[in-house]
Amino acid sequence: MKKDYYAILGVSRDADLETIKRAYRRLALQYHPDKNPGNREAEERFKEISQAYEVLSDPEKRRQYDLFGTVQDRGGMSGDPFSQMVEEVFQSIFGGRAARGRRISAIPGEDVRIQIELTLEEIAQGTVRKVSYNRRVPCSACEGTGSRERQAPQTCPSCGGSGQIAYRVGGGFFQQIVYQDCPDCRGTGVRILHPCPHCRGSGLETITHTQEIDIPPGAVGGLTLSLRGAGHFGPWGGPPGDLLIEVSEAPHPHFLRDGEDLIYEVWVAYPDLVLGTTVEVPTPAGETLSLRVPPGTPSGEILRLEGKGLPRYASRKKGDLLVQVHVWVPTRLSREAKELLQAMRRDPVFSPAQKRPEKGFFSRLRDLLGRKSA
Ligand SMILES: [Zn+2]
Ligand SMILES: [Zn+2]
Repeated sequence: MKKDYYAILGVSRDADLETIKRAYRRLALQYHPDKNPGNREAEERFKEISQAYEVLSDPEKRRQYDLFGTVQDRGGMSGDPFSQMVEEVFQSIFGGRAARGRRISAIPGEDVRIQIELTLEEIAQGTVRKVSYNRRVPCSACEGTGSRERQAPQTCPSCGGSGQIAYRVGGGFFQQIVYQDCPDCRGTGVRILHPCPHCRGSGLETITHTQEIDIPPGAVGGLTLSLRGAGHFGPWGGPPGDLLIEVSEAPHPHFLRDGEDLIYEVWVAYPDLVLGTTVEVPTPAGETLSLRVPPGTPSGEILRLEGKGLPRYASRKKGDLLVQVHVWVPTRLSREAKELLQAMRRDPVFSPAQKRPEKGFFSRLRDLLGRKSA
């Protein structure tokens, strides 16, 4: 039976990440096993909620779930050793539920968004980048507890830990229940008796974090990569958010990109087009290829080097390198060259009058580029 993760969290299918996080936080606090001891139903609900959140909070998993209604865990980019270490610390502070397989989920941390610009070569081959950003991590003075005595945070008695207080508004038939942030804990659901002076009880401090990012081949501009668990930590043991990496592209002086295909132009002497020749073509992977231009190649012809374009992201497919051949027209001529050209002009072989080429340049380009979209 397939589960509707959106229904479990009570959000619409187009809900943004913030809405999903808020819904998760509210439900997780409500059904938390600590608050419902011995209640199997609440425990099941809590597991369901955590599962739904795990999928819907990860852009890649959410896309898969939307498409296929199920998620395959690829492992992939994750495993921040720092967050693992912190998880262990918090498991000991909160009495840890490692035995049941899953760590208790607290208030999740926010995502961090950064931008990087990649060259075409980096897109072709993939790269490793070191980036630094401000990151909220558990406070070193209080080990993330927020408490001067390093004691585990207590549940706020005013709101029972939900962070919300219900008010009745109106009367009789029109009575409504409105939820507002609890004034005693400011919506956190947590009470700290003696706040840590370093973090003022938040349990978090901001550091400059340096992270190595492994960027796979094919990460073109417009793509957002995510590195799970490399975002801000949540307060008092909340799991970290993600690092979202927005990719942009540096323009390239020689290649024009069309999806995974690249277009490269070469200029060849007229006799070479008539008699045939070989030209050298660079690839974004840093190779230099020899391309044969067959005899009788018309100017504007596009020759295809299959699989020498850009890799498609998360796929084994590769685009092509399209080489457009132009005739080189000199502007300064020696007397001998001029005489040679005039002799050519008199020879009817060089006259275009007999026959038009079957297809013009634009229709050939359309054929080539349209092949994929058709
Ligand atoms: Zn409260
Ligand atoms: Zn502190």
